[in-house]
Amino acid sequence: CGIVGYVGGQQAAPLLLEGLTRLEHRGYDSAGVAVLGTSGVRVAKKAGRVRDLSDELPKRFAGKVGIGHTRWATHGPATDVNAHPHTDTKGDVAVVHNGIIDNAAALRQQLADDGVDLVSDTDTEVLAHLVARSDADTLEGKVRDALALVDGTYGIAVMHADFPDRLVVARNGSPLIIGVGEKEMHVASDLAALVRYTTTVAHLDDGELATLTATGFTTYRQDPGSSGLSTTGKAATT
Ligand code: GLU
Repeated sequence: CGIVGYVGGQQAAPLLLEGLTRLEHRGYDSAGVAVLGTSGVRVAKKAGRVRDLSDELPKRFAGKVGIGHTRWATHGPATDVNAHPHTDTKGDVAVVHNGIIDNAAALRQQLADDGVDLVSDTDTEVLAHLVARSDADTLEGKVRDALALVDGTYGIAVMHADFPDRLVVARNGSPLIIGVGEKEMHVASDLAALVRYTTTVAHLDDGELATLTATGFTTYRQDPGSSGLSTTGKAATT
């Protein structure tokens, strides 16, 4: 339903919660955030309001890279476990997702056959496992490998403990907007979550993937095998 992400010099969690609050008018049933700090990826998520989530957030939820989500359940009920972000078994990868993965049942079955323990009922969780299992040596390559196996609609934001300087985002049929700040980058599914931080934005197109670091963003085509850079840092002021 709603996605936010941040990478930069500030603590991510308060910014993510603020962004999620600005998406509340969209309606949702659960909310969650993940941050990447010195102790790796940490996730806090809950059925209910953003307020309930912030009330229970550990005081030291430190990290300057993070993603957040408000969920409108399509696959599995509105429970704490089904709330996003979703992680792989090791807990190195965290993913938030808007949309519906049409072949989730088949992918869940394949992962289960391979011995992967799926903990939620969602279509989204497969993405975290698929990213973790790719043997590509960049996060962009891992996300691209995962998306090549997926049919459906998505806006996603992904972070990975082994690539702590970045977020990778991708879109197919579900909006994502990159917000360019001063030595920081934001991403959201709705302009409402960005306006407080920047008026310089770039809209991701369907079939595109983007890397966000504190200093800028780069977009690519998602197609596997395409190494082509499509744009570097092209943003417009709203
Ligand atoms: N299909 C996903 C789920 O049920 C994402 C739903 C959404 O867009 O919020 O968890």
